Amino acid sequence: MKIKKILEAGVPEMSFEVFPPKTESAFESVQGAVREIAALRPSFMSVTYGAGGGTSQYTLDIAKDIKKAFGVPMLAHLTCVSSTKESVRARIEAMKDAGIENVMALRGDLTPEMEGADRSRWAYRYAVDLIRDLKESSADFCIGGACYPEVHPESANQKEDIKYLKEKVDAGVDFLTTQMFFDNNLLYSFLYKIREAGITVPVVAGIMPITRATQVARAIKLSGSFMPHRFVSLVDRFGSDPDAMKQAGIAYATDQIIDLYANGITNVHVYSMNQPDVAAKIQANVSAILGKA
Ligand code: FAD
Repeated sequence: MKIKKILEAGVPEMSFEVFPPKTESAFESVQGAVREIAALRPSFMSVTYGAGGGTSQYTLDIAKDIKKAFGVPMLAHLTCVSSTKESVRARIEAMKDAGIENVMALRGDLTPEMEGADRSRWAYRYAVDLIRDLKESSADFCIGGACYPEVHPESANQKEDIKYLKEKVDAGVDFLTTQMFFDNNLLYSFLYKIREAGITVPVVAGIMPITRATQVARAIKLSGSFMPHRFVSLVDRFGSDPDAMKQAGIAYATDQIIDLYANGITNVHVYSMNQPDVAAKIQANVSAILGKA
């Protein structure tokens, strides 16, 4: 099923993101965790693409397995930065052959080696280059793109970031998923600005439950997200007690999600980090809102 159709229904729904194993030996344990998450019957699930593409086959294997065993609509991520046209074409064909209908088209992060390279020689410099190739392929993919309520770290300012976001959407993006954020007001203000800029596709709010104190530094490094005082004091207070931190992190994410639904944001994607218990608790906390009580 095309994810666009789910998002446009206009009723509160929740989906989960999982990541593929890094090695073959970890495949079974990751598959087990992902299957537990799929058993919650989310509206869809996304499977990330390992940086550099080394685990691309696992992304497809996990997506295929869940779709077949649980019938959950799947979104496979694909990155392109510094890839060749040939390798991307092969990955697009593999997705089509695997029956993937939904693709999250991403640039991918720059590694330190890439930073100094001559980027004018790359076949793919931005996600928009991949989106154009996906649109030209023979498969009729539903295409997702990433967006950044707090501005992409490489952008000079929000105006420029939104200008390129509009270009990306106009190239064929059917929906956008946000980077994690911990203050909903940042999303509301971002939505106002992108709608004003003429971006009308559905926007899925990405929520990261922080359940371990060690995740905080990584989350800030990855996303540059602003941490509200309420969140910082929660980590200060409970960070050294794993059970308390998990409970508090789930409660914080739940609170954010309820506020989103209350303000008319119907599409929420939880970065579940392959933790079925966290996914289950968050879903249970909003079960009546989702009509799953
Ligand atoms: P782009 O849309 O290309 O934007 C990157 C930067 O370039 C921005 O600053 C943008 O403003 C600027 N830009 C865009 N177009 C132009 C242009 N034409 N000219 C000049 N500047 C331009 N990474 C992974 O490796 N695997 C994953 O599975 C993955 N999943 C993700 C899921 C979500 C929801 C998000 C938000 C991020 C994900 N990432 C993933 C991380 C992502 O790859 C990085 O954030 C990356 O740095 C940017 O990717 P993008 O697709 O947003 O890039």
